[in-house]
Amino acid sequence: MSSLVVRVGLLGCGNVGASLAQMIASNGDAIAERAGVRLEITQIAVRDVAKDRGLPANSASITDDPSSLVAASDVDLVVEVMGGIEPARTLILAALAAGKPVVTANKALLAAAGAELFAAAEAGGVDLLFEASVCGGIPLMRPLRESLAGDRILRVTGIVNGTTNYILTRMTEAGQSFADALAEAQALGFAEADPTADVEAHDAAAKAAIIASIAFGAEVTDSDVYREGITSITAADIEAARELGYVVKLLAVAEERDGKVGARVHPAMVPVQHPLASVREAFNAVFIEGEATGEVMLYGRGAGGFPTASAVLGDVIDAAKNLASGGRGATIGKLVRREMLPMEGVVSQYYLEVEAADRPGVLAVVADVFGRHEVSIESMQQRGIGEDARLIFVTHSARESDLRSTVEELRETDAVHRVGSVLRVLGSGE
Ligand code: NAP
Repeated sequence: MSSLVVRVGLLGCGNVGASLAQMIASNGDAIAERAGVRLEITQIAVRDVAKDRGLPANSASITDDPSSLVAASDVDLVVEVMGGIEPARTLILAALAAGKPVVTANKALLAAAGAELFAAAEAGGVDLLFEASVCGGIPLMRPLRESLAGDRILRVTGIVNGTTNYILTRMTEAGQSFADALAEAQALGFAEADPTADVEAHDAAAKAAIIASIAFGAEVTDSDVYREGITSITAADIEAARELGYVVKLLAVAEERDGKVGARVHPAMVPVQHPLASVREAFNAVFIEGEATGEVMLYGRGAGGFPTASAVLGDVIDAAKNLASGGRGATIGKLVRREMLPMEGVVSQYYLEVEAADRPGVLAVVADVFGRHEVSIESMQQRGIGEDARLIFVTHSARESDLRSTVEELRETDAVHRVGSVLRVLGSGE
């Protein structure tokens, strides 16, 4: 079968770009056979042209001038896998303005300037595809944009950062401290030397912004996302979770409530029976709740050169086929600014650890504080006795604002020595 040649320009040739080049070299014939397009990388832009990248032998020219690649007459389609905001943003805008489809894996850029880029794709009438930007190899963007386009998405809850999931898994299964689990993750290459983006949940927040944008057609940037990382999770929290039938996970949640869009990232206790509880080590998973579909879960490798390149390649084939047929794929359309759900309005169950005097009447005083702030208690357990007594509460669903005022008043209550960990609980009541 004769296939149309689509000439690809690669912006960046690191982990993802080099894996993509290898996949195109090894799967090119099968792609041409199945999709009717032959992909040919004609140009690659990098910072250091002298670096050996173990690339398959082909005729691609290597340049350190990415603007010339975008403008080149032998580039029909641009793949951006260089990362960062600039020059990636300017290069993508230039490609779209020139009528060249773009495939990107750049979550940081989409979370900061997605609306601008999608508007430019709309104006240019070309594809801007980004499957790899969230959860690497897991098909998520296309299911949200296309397969579930007719449903009303209620909420998307995901484990979207492999590094933190690895750390929390080791804390749970090997009883490690946060510091030891982080050191192990770094030694194994699951965590960067500077782990801030992962452990402080900046990476997960960027993904939450993109998920919320696509699930709800709203302009959501990373600065709209409420964010708490995992650095303050202790071995005692992990142990308490285990005793109560939960595991601690870093969750990214995008939801629509009262006509508002909410996006947040924070650690939470997940019931062991919930499908997300079984997602271990560096794996990712996303749990989607749709009004008609009910529950859908997608699971897989959220990072790594080849899993991510696989998602990029799927988009490249899609865009190349559209180019060959003279059309374009499903569009995102215009992302509109919607009212955001403030964190204070979020409804969740909570876990609280309270150190209180172990004497008659104290429990009634503490319970009264919860009651006056409209937070009802689902379960209470006492651990230890005397000075070491700790009360472990799990609440029914409550508003974050009510929970916060409860904690404030507990801190001012004489019989309460200390309010320890407060964690959200993933429950059915949300
Ligand atoms: P990487 O290994 O650091 O590679 C980046 C590449 O871009 C390098 O080849 C670099 O050139 C080139 N580059 C950077 N700035 C440039 C500039 N100003 N001009 C020319 N070339 C430039 O990154 P990666 O891991 O492949 O990630 C690429 C993108 O995929 C990022 O947006 C990342 O967030 C996203 N992503 C990655 C993963 C993953 O598992 N790695 C998963 C999901 C999404 P030199 O090689 O010469 O330095």
